Amino acid sequence: MARLCTIRDVDWRGKTAVVRVDFNVPLGRQDGRVADDTRIRAALPTLQYLRQHGARVVLLSHLGRPDGKRDAKYSLQPVADRLGELLGSSCPFGSDCVGQAAQSAVRAIGPGEVVLLENVRFHPEEEANDPGFAADLARLGDVFVNDAFGTAHRAHASTEGLAHHLPAIAGLLMEKEIVTIGEALDNPKRPFVAVVGGAKVSSKLAVLENLIDRVDRLLIGGGMANTFLAARGEQVGRSLLEADLVPTARDLMRRGDKILLPSDVVVTTDLKAADTQPRACASDAVGPDEIIGDIGPRTAADFGQAIQAAGTVLWNGPMGIFEDPRFADGTLQVARAMAASRATTIVGGGESVQAVEQAGVADKLSHVSTGGGASLEFIEGKVLPGVAALRSDC
Ligand code: ADP
Ligand code: MG
Repeated sequence: MARLCTIRDVDWRGKTAVVRVDFNVPLGRQDGRVADDTRIRAALPTLQYLRQHGARVVLLSHLGRPDGKRDAKYSLQPVADRLGELLGSSCPFGSDCVGQAAQSAVRAIGPGEVVLLENVRFHPEEEANDPGFAADLARLGDVFVNDAFGTAHRAHASTEGLAHHLPAIAGLLMEKEIVTIGEALDNPKRPFVAVVGGAKVSSKLAVLENLIDRVDRLLIGGGMANTFLAARGEQVGRSLLEADLVPTARDLMRRGDKILLPSDVVVTTDLKAADTQPRACASDAVGPDEIIGDIGPRTAADFGQAIQAAGTVLWNGPMGIFEDPRFADGTLQVARAMAASRATTIVGGGESVQAVEQAGVADKLSHVSTGGGASLEFIEGKVLPGVAALRSDC
């Protein structure tokens, strides 16, 4: 891929940047304030760069699913309040993202200042990628900066449509996501080890297909490993199993002997009985009434060793039902092995990122992706419409 144009390629003096950020953050049910500001902080490098280089900065985002209607529950006002605290100077807020209210909010800021406009999804035209609406958004400034990697897999007016009306370039977060994950896929430091888990093979089939020919080793855990164990001829009791995908699993296992499956697992007879003590056993010793909830300690150690020896590790999907502490060890061990490894370490996926944060090692990894669905589609090898729309002739 030619080099993506970024905010570093523009002379910002006198210009207004229309920046699509992903401020889709959780709000506290009681106080309505921002409950987790990770996504806001992730956009700060871009915002600080633009401010320092004299741009006027107009921010667009969605929040939740207001389904094209104005709904106070999904207002971005609390996000403006939190952003102001993080920037150290209050952040003005425009009560609409297009029209009079938007235009006057934008006119009120000077160079180096930031304004956040109201939820783009209050307009049905946003998700419909309506060209007229995109043209209205384009009137807010001179250059379109997309820093919303988490929404890049959606072709909406503020993520894709805008690029047809203004020069479109990447923000620093978008650049980091694309370059880090893209390098791992296309030009990895070897050995390249992928760790894939999560509930089902069916939801990760495209990921496995795209990775199998690129990686040196593919470590499979989580519920999806059960289907592979079955393909190896083992009984998985009452565990999650996708019988129709057993032949697919068998085919993948034949592709170059790269797949490493659990040799032991943690099982229980009742997932809901939190007071029962699960047992670890060999993967071929699961009883007919037992359910696999996690990889076993020997597997976790083997996976850890492969991660230690890697040049690049890409991880998507937890190794077990980590939400239950009885089945969290495998996932936490993998997280710690990643943190201890000298490899380039990348984690993508909603629950996987949550697990890495739970393990307290997020800051010890090379890259923790801010995009759940977007990073999954990227790892699947799909072209993300929000990325494809950016200029790459710089
Ligand atoms: P990510 O969001 O990181 O891409 P997924 O959404 O694919 O991950 O999968 C996460 C879910 O997989 C978790 O909620 C976890 O409970 C579930 N899971 C992991 N291992 C098992 C298992 N052995 N049986 C059932 N569910 C599992
Ligand atoms: Mg998930």
